[in-house]
Amino acid sequence: MDKINLLSFSSDELKTFFTDNGEKAFRATQVMKWIYHQNVTDFDAMLNLSKKTRAWLQEVACIEQPEVVKTQIAKDGVIKFLLKMEADNLVETVYIPEGNRATLCVSSQVGCALDCSFCSTARQGFNRNLTTAEIIGQIFQANNYMENNNLQRVTNVVLMGMGEPLLNYKNVVSALKIMLDDFGFGLSKRRVTISTAGVVPAMIKLADDVDVSLAVSLHSATDELRSELVPLNKKYPIAELMKACQHYLDGDDRKKHIMFEYVMLKGVNDQPEHARALVKLLKGMSCKVNLIAFNPFASSGYFSSEEVQVLKFQTILTKAKIRTLLRKQRGEDVDAACGQLAGKVKDKSSRHVKFSSPRFGTITNI
Ligand code: SAH
Repeated sequence: MDKINLLSFSSDELKTFFTDNGEKAFRATQVMKWIYHQNVTDFDAMLNLSKKTRAWLQEVACIEQPEVVKTQIAKDGVIKFLLKMEADNLVETVYIPEGNRATLCVSSQVGCALDCSFCSTARQGFNRNLTTAEIIGQIFQANNYMENNNLQRVTNVVLMGMGEPLLNYKNVVSALKIMLDDFGFGLSKRRVTISTAGVVPAMIKLADDVDVSLAVSLHSATDELRSELVPLNKKYPIAELMKACQHYLDGDDRKKHIMFEYVMLKGVNDQPEHARALVKLLKGMSCKVNLIAFNPFASSGYFSSEEVQVLKFQTILTKAKIRTLLRKQRGEDVDAACGQLAGKVKDKSSRHVKFSSPRFGTITNI
């Protein structure tokens, strides 16, 4: 019999697992504290559990995280982990320290099916969704490393690594719940951000299912150009995307704003007219814009915008009272920046097949 990996259970699910097996619900809470607060994975070391409970857990359960196969430390303190998932797929997770914050950029899929033209993960093709345990395991392993090296534990999580989180809806939402749970990682909902290229039906559902911050990879305010950069736009054009964003904001007045990400591509989307179109599109919406420097990779065909162009662009937005941040480059010397995460995708299906497949079209995973 396959043992059940406890890293895939939210606290409610773990309680049910315990009570279904004749154990008390509070035992589940004790186990979660051992795992997420103490980094303990050996049932025998969970000393407040009875011998009988420990023996039962040994028999039916395990706590298995992805194996760290490589750790690279950049000059600026960014740490990139290469993690081996089941079936030898490799996925990257990046730790970004900044002041009293330590942000972990977590992957949600092995590869990606979206084929955004400026992203190196797209070149890897798509293999599969990560399980809840594999998503949670990235944070667990990072915290383990930090404890062993006297560094700060993860305080913020961004689902901006490899993959499109909203195309792995079920596992991602379960993982988000464990991140927010007081007996799990106990992160505040403002410190957990999910980033999407705009999977509209999943964005609408997310508003009801879990309360986290939302980032939307916009990159252009016009459908023609956006469809070129983010082919998903052909399926969910900008007008629909904006409605889904507004719905997300309306659901809860504590959701203060949406973060729009905009990668600056020289001569492509960085001209004053592009900024003015963006102002028009975002008018009246509670949002911030994050201008991201393009991280080049071999044969991408794009170049990073000149600084003066970026500043001009920013000025047009800020004059229109849109808060606009410039995302700093971090971890460049270990290729840990946005869109540079590659990992190693085994048995990838062709991007074209995935994109046009019925599975992609209907998002069965919601
Ligand atoms: N699929 C999700 C999350 C992964 S990408 C999404 O699209 O939001 C995380 C962010 O990195 C996105 O905003 C993406 O557009 C950006 N990005 C991808 N490739 C990049 C590159 N080469 N340079 C800079 N940013 C990039």
